[in-house]
Parts: sequence; structure tokens; C-alpha cells
Amino acid sequence: TNKPYASKHRHILNNIEEFWFYVQSEVRKLKKSNAVDVDKILDLTSQFKRSLMTDMEELGTLAGGDTLAERQNRRLGELVQARLRHIQNPRDCKTARKVSCQINWACGFGCQLHHVTYCLIIAYATNRTLVLDSTGWNYHSGGWEEMFEPLSQTCRTATEGSVIYWPDHKPDKQIIKLASQTYSLSGPGFIPRAVPQDIAQELIHGEPIVWWVGQIVKYIFKPNAKVRAMLSHHAQQIGFSHPVVGVHIRRTDKGSEAAPHPIHEYMRHVEEYYAQLSLQVNVTERKVYVATDEKGVIMEIRQKYPAYTILGDASTVEAASSDRRYSTAGLLGIITDLYFLSHSDYLVCTFSSQICRIAYELLNTDHRDASLNFKSLDDIWFFAGQRDNIQLAVLDHTPQTADQIELRVGDEVKPAGNHWDGFSRGTNLRTNRHGLYPSFKVISRVETYKFPTYPEVKL
Ligand code: GDP
Repeated sequence: TNKPYASKHRHILNNIEEFWFYVQSEVRKLKKSNAVDVDKILDLTSQFKRSLMTDMEELGTLAGGDTLAERQNRRLGELVQARLRHIQNPRDCKTARKVSCQINWACGFGCQLHHVTYCLIIAYATNRTLVLDSTGWNYHSGGWEEMFEPLSQTCRTATEGSVIYWPDHKPDKQIIKLASQTYSLSGPGFIPRAVPQDIAQELIHGEPIVWWVGQIVKYIFKPNAKVRAMLSHHAQQIGFSHPVVGVHIRRTDKGSEAAPHPIHEYMRHVEEYYAQLSLQVNVTERKVYVATDEKGVIMEIRQKYPAYTILGDASTVEAASSDRRYSTAGLLGIITDLYFLSHSDYLVCTFSSQICRIAYELLNTDHRDASLNFKSLDDIWFFAGQRDNIQLAVLDHTPQTADQIELRVGDEVKPAGNHWDGFSRGTNLRTNRHGLYPSFKVISRVETYKFPTYPEVKL
């Protein structure tokens, strides 16, 4: 498989977007001076960008790299799932080494699901079985299996055996217990952003860490037969079909943590997605699946954007309200929204929300590389409690203004965020200077770790 080609191809696609962000943003500033017909420039640069993106897509298909990469990634995904089934189903539960985790503390479903993800990564890294204790669950007193497939067929208790508490993970003790939602920043090398080395070597993907976290989430987030039946019924009712863009609008209690965004900021990206897509296929209906915790949002979009078919209904919104979400209805609501968001073709949301990040992680477990199929209105993707995200400069940069920083090829940069206007903000670890730099002059460094390779697991 042609990994360098795929990586270069994706890099160019990304840079076309970065270039376009930059031009758009600069020209919008110009518009204020009223001297030129700025709208014409904005319109033509958008057409220019869409045409280039389409050419790149076609180039990828011509080179045949896509199908090869897809086959390779699908096999790797199946391999990881098989390894997880293997560690989760030990022959003798009594003597099996375990990781014991709980989900009965008060945080949202996304936060809990990511905590279980963290636990399963520890289990995979230490060749143990994850045992999930969901008694006293704030979303459902009946526990995890009321909604989801059990994480194991053979081993669901960790009541006997010697115990140590995470981040201690000595191999001689039978059970590693995670006492609470404490992420270990100084933890061992296998916590995110580390990707298993044997997988990273073969994976052809723009964000290997997202793919890896997605595979773990995929193993955990498996609605049971009852919920699956409800989901397929719901899909028929709302007319869920492709192409469709998933939009998550997170408001209510999130206000203190992240700035709320008006509807048009989300819909701008939906419009762009469909403008781009119509160059490639004949789009007859512009469908948008809207998930939100704020009443009135779906109605507002329907009113303001009559050219779009807005999927989503008031019942999940009702159940998502801050005072009602911790209930069976609230749980069904968030499972439904996560399911449809993660089965959309493209996502528009805020990565400050765990729900948005989980939808993106799951989106990337499909065989296609969906690492560019999103717009986050705020953060870049991250895993809570992750080790440093490091970018590498691939081009030199001489600051143009006082708020920009210098880059030299090979510099390590710790990003704080992407402003999605062509610039990112971060700290150059060589100079220790903090400021803005053009996003296209860096690439993300992929962190790897020698996880067990489970040679006994064959596909
Ligand atoms: P975060 O706070 O957005 O990072 O995500 P959490 O999952 O930790 O907490 C938010 C919780 O609010 C979710 O788990 C849901 O219970 C509820 N919620 C937020 N947004 C939505 C939504 O779009 N749909 C539904 N059904 N529930 C939501």
C-alpha cells in the first residue's frame, strides 16, 4: 500500500482548506473598508477551493490508493476488535487478571463513556479483562446491560483477588482498580495519545489516535438488541439516509465551559459541505441530522433554512434538558443522537463537547479515513487527560506581526488551538515563545507505544 502517497494527498487536501480559511478571513476584514467587491472575491475563491478539492478526490480515486487503504484499515479494525474480544472473554474468570472500573459518578454520558474507554485501553495495554461496575448508574439504575451488550460473555465480576490502585499497574497484582475519574497525566506511556506501534505501522489514516480511540469506543458502545430495534425504527420514522450532515449544538449547562455558537455558524459549514458535494454528485435533498440539548433550536433551523431537510425530533431534545437527562429517556435520547451523528457523512459540532468528540471517533472507525469530515467550531480533538499533543514544523515561518511566532523546520510545537482562519496558537518548545503560526506549516506527530501484539489472536 502506498502510505506516503495517501499521507501527502491528505496533507494537500488539508492545506487547500487552510489556504481557503486564510483568504476568506483576510478578505472579510477587507470588506469593512468597502473599497472592492469583496463578495465576488469570496464567491470565486470558494469555487476555486471546491474545484481543487474535487480534483484531489478524483486524483485519489485514479491512483487506486483509497480502496487499498480502506481494505487495510478495515482489516486492522477487525484485528483490534478480535483482540478486545479475546481479552474480554478469558477462559477462567476467577484467575483472570482484571481492570475494574465504575461508571456511577455524576458526569455526562460522554464523560463516562470516555472513562470506560480509558479503562479498556489500560486493559489492552496490560493484557487484562475490563470488568465494568455499573451499579448505582445515574443514567439507569438497572445498569449498563439494560441498554448495551455486555462487555464480556464470560467474566463480569472482580470481587476476589489482590488489588492495586491506578496509576499503579504492577503486573503481579490481579486487579487494577480505578477508584474514581482520575486520569493519570504522569501515567505510563500507553495512555492516549499513544497508538499501538504494530497498528500505527500499517494504519493509513490522517489521525491515527482518533482511529485508535474510536476502535475502543466502538467495542464499548454497542446498543443491545432492544435498543437496536428502537434505533432502526427511529431511522425509518425520521427518514435517515445518505447524504446527511450531523450537527450537534451543545448549549444549556455547557455555557460556563464553552462559548455558545449561533445557528448560522454551524449552518455555514453545512452549506459548504453540500456546495462541495454537488460538484461530485447530484444532490436532490440536503439532509441535516440535528442533535441538541436546547429546546427551540430544531424549530429555528427549520424556519431559517427551508432548503434543508432537518431530521431530529423534540423527544430527544426534551430528554436532554439538564434536569431530565439522568433518566432512561435521557439515556435513550443521547444513545439515539450519538448513533445518528456517528453515522452521518460529515459532522459540524464543538470538540469541547465529549458527545461531539465521540461521534467523530466513531465516524473514523468506518473503513474510510474520515479525519477531514468534520468542522469543530472550537477546540481541536483531544482526549481528556491525554499526554502532550506535539506538532512538528515542516516549513520555516518568519513572524509577520508581533503576535506570531517563529518556526524552523523540525521545531516541536505544543498547540493550544486552531483558530480555523489559517492560524493556530501554540508554544514553540525550542524558543518557548507562545503565539500564532500558520496551521499549514506544521503536522501532528503520531505517538506510538509497544502495546502487546496478541499473536494468539488470528483473523
Ligand atoms: P459534554 O458535557 O458535552 O462534554 O458531554 P457529556 O456527555 O459529558 O455531558 C452532556 C450530557 O448532556 C450528555 O451525556 C447528554 O446526557 C446530554 N446532552 C448533551 N447534548 C445532547 C444532545 O445533543 N442530545 C441528547 N439527547 N443529550 C444531550
